[in-house]
Amino acid sequence: MMEKLSNFINGAYTPPETGLYLDNYQPATGEVYSQVPDSSPADVERAYSAAEQAFPGWSTLAAEEKFKILNRIAEGIDTRREELAQAESRDQGKPVWLARTEINRAGQNFRFFATAALQFASESHSMEDRAINYTLRQPIGVVGCISPWNLPLYLFTWKIAPALAAGNCVVAKPSEFTPYTAALLGQICNDAGLPAGVLNIVHGLGGSAGQAIISHPGIKAISFTGGTATGRHIASVAAPMFKKMSLELGGKNPNIIFADADLEKAISTTVRSSFQNQGEICLCGSRVFIERPVYEKVKNALVEEVKKLKTGNPQLDESRVGAIVSRQHYEKVLSYIQLAKDEGGTILCGGEALHPPGFENGWFIAPTIIEGLDAACRTNQEEIFGPVITLIPFDSEESVLTMANSTAYGLATTLWTGNLSRAHRLAGKLQTGIVWVNCWLLRDLRTPFGGTKQSGVGREGGWEAMRFFTEPKNVCIAY
Ligand code: NAD
Repeated sequence: MMEKLSNFINGAYTPPETGLYLDNYQPATGEVYSQVPDSSPADVERAYSAAEQAFPGWSTLAAEEKFKILNRIAEGIDTRREELAQAESRDQGKPVWLARTEINRAGQNFRFFATAALQFASESHSMEDRAINYTLRQPIGVVGCISPWNLPLYLFTWKIAPALAAGNCVVAKPSEFTPYTAALLGQICNDAGLPAGVLNIVHGLGGSAGQAIISHPGIKAISFTGGTATGRHIASVAAPMFKKMSLELGGKNPNIIFADADLEKAISTTVRSSFQNQGEICLCGSRVFIERPVYEKVKNALVEEVKKLKTGNPQLDESRVGAIVSRQHYEKVLSYIQLAKDEGGTILCGGEALHPPGFENGWFIAPTIIEGLDAACRTNQEEIFGPVITLIPFDSEESVLTMANSTAYGLATTLWTGNLSRAHRLAGKLQTGIVWVNCWLLRDLRTPFGGTKQSGVGREGGWEAMRFFTEPKNVCIAY
């Protein structure tokens, strides 16, 4: 019998009210291996009622008690790390070794925000001898958290942990493509003693379960990570209802390599920042700008290194690239490779689907490097979100800045240079929410995380997340 996942509502695993399920595929084999609830608005309503009832208790629980429970969830994730990593890899297609690092981060998310529950504070404003103002930061109530398929448990917990730490109750929906680890989280929360109803997990499609969350009048804030088109739709529904919104959306990130950089480090990191998780990370650099004097050298080294990357069986440590998450995304990525060819690009390596032995029906694409395309063409403007990068030579700081800033997106830049003044100068002018200088994906969870332009609205991380998930109230006391 095919395994059926359940919603997690009011502390109990619950089948969807309609009894309807969606097939859940294993990307490496292309086969259905479990089923996920195709939840309806009725399931979201049940989750909402449970959250609403749990709110008075959870929001007034002493910070230290919240800390202990959230910290136990972190420990539960750590304890079940291998099981969660295996589940994540099977569900998403990523190599198991990579899934292990992401599960570590899911535990860290809970540990980090457990301590935030203890340390969060607010400001006061004194008016000399007339009055004192102080700010109360109160939990919002019931909030909605919706996450994508690329870093499933990592991004799911990145939203849920601060929402709970700030005293809210949550209705959360993971991606219908990668529901499995979210389904295991319910058990971990129960084992940690999280009171019933504080966290409710509803599975299903964006258009039904997701839509019911974003349009629910009682759900006061929406934290969403996913595609820009979905984000635009969510804003159109939630903004007229005056919900608070944090939107973390798509990217088309520049990776800029100057001739004065530590090229060895730039090249080895670029291999990772381009192809880690099959290029399905919103922070992956997809447009690699290389200063003309070192263009051939960097290009040749990149192509040589990328040809060595093994693509295949996600179970093996030697597999650096796994399977693409779904058939529809696999077809989308392949269609962009075709578009790049149509636009006149030259494929330097990859450029095709792969059928590794034993995984002939899986959705694998060879890591692909393309050159010869104008920075303004569709391939260089639209998010592909797969193992595909383009190389573009540049001649000056001004010209690369113009090209880097020329897309509708503004999530993250990686900048490689040995010139400190240039690094500071460009960091100030790049239109992205994050600039990594001589590194990539080096994360301190206290820093503001998010994008500008069509990469999103709002910031996550540290106090930014705690502020998002609380409502500030000024109290003015006259002396
Ligand atoms: P998606 O927008 O298709 O789906 C994301 C989530 O939204 C899923 O859970 C989906 O079911 C839900 N959803 C879809 N329609 C909805 C609706 N009408 N109402 C409510 N929920 C709805 O995105 P995806 O394909 O899962 O993820 C890939 C995208 O996510 C890429 O664009 C990537 O750049 C982006 N992303 C951004 C960040 C970031 O931090 N900025 C991080 C990871 C991924």
